[in-house]
Amino acid sequence: MPDISSMLKAIKLSWLKRLSGKQTSFSKFASTLVGQQNLLTFLQYKGDVKYLNMPSFYKQLFQYWFEIHSRPPEGPTEILDEILWYNKRILVDNRPVFFKTWNEHGIKRISHILKSNGIFYTPLELNNLYSINVNIMSYNSLKAAVPSEWMQNIRNNPIDNYIHSQDGDIFVKLGEKSKNALSVTCKDFYEYFVQQKKERPTALYKWEEMYYFADFDWNMLYCIPYRVVRETDIQSLQYQIINRYIPCYVNLYKWGKEHSSSCPLCNQTDTIEHYFVECTSINCFWSEISSLIQLTYDISLNLNTLDILFGVPFEDPIFTIVNFCILHCKKYIHKCRISKEHVHYSVFKKKFRNRVLVELTYKQKCEQTRNLLLALLENL
Ligand SMILES: [Zn+2]
Repeated sequence: MPDISSMLKAIKLSWLKRLSGKQTSFSKFASTLVGQQNLLTFLQYKGDVKYLNMPSFYKQLFQYWFEIHSRPPEGPTEILDEILWYNKRILVDNRPVFFKTWNEHGIKRISHILKSNGIFYTPLELNNLYSINVNIMSYNSLKAAVPSEWMQNIRNNPIDNYIHSQDGDIFVKLGEKSKNALSVTCKDFYEYFVQQKKERPTALYKWEEMYYFADFDWNMLYCIPYRVVRETDIQSLQYQIINRYIPCYVNLYKWGKEHSSSCPLCNQTDTIEHYFVECTSINCFWSEISSLIQLTYDISLNLNTLDILFGVPFEDPIFTIVNFCILHCKKYIHKCRISKEHVHYSVFKKKFRNRVLVELTYKQKCEQTRNLLLALLENL
């Protein structure tokens, strides 16, 4: 039985070849739509259709394209190769940017402004390298827009012999294999979408759509609870969060179990975010937790909604403890919500202190973790 939605997507995507081909009226129209001389230039971008203004046929076509092409870069080489323009992960004032003059002078990729050791070229260096008069404001805004974790990644894994990618061919990764975008057949696209459906719960698409600016490393996020806590009920709660299967009032209303989707505590819409993070009744709780971690480990930390919902995706031992703490907090909040009790930091602190004491009786993987737990205990 063919999968109709995958088939439709694949058929639509096979238009790309037609649109990027020789100078037909179709291809001319498509290039005008995207404001480029050639559609291929546009296809290398990792944009987001919500910033595009065009007829719905094309909008949908590019949406499917970006779905395949806009995956986050993995590792230092891919980061340096990443396109600067119309990139949904490089936002200035919350929007992707395109600096026409820079582009015309050959500045197109991260590697054109960032050296392979993770240090930015200075405006003077850029002026000399690209014979361009770099505007300092544009320079600073672009520099600030490059995600800090990318720079961190490059600094941690500097490349000795980085070779600049050439413009021209666009490669797209379908499963394990990379293919030239223009040689991908309708069947390849179809098989890719069918495979994706088999592998990915729809909730992941929902999260990605809602937080289009975030790079979700799902493999990593799925692993966090199994790496940092022992309790299976917490692991299963985290699985429910990722799969959006939480008894917040929005869901209870959807499932026909409540008459309203409002939070009984503050009357706002009780989404998953609200349930665990944003409800006025738990705001203070999370600031207490942030302060506890800051005070204990002397790090500046402001837990945002995504950190709380999914964990902080770093493997550093301190963040293992931070994730341990976040997961226990969510279990406590969840218990309070189910039993309709108020969330109190002092109550949590007491329970959590006991839990940390138990954790210390286990043989720790490393001495450092033990010391980090002991430091936490002092502040509980
Ligand atoms: Zn509320």
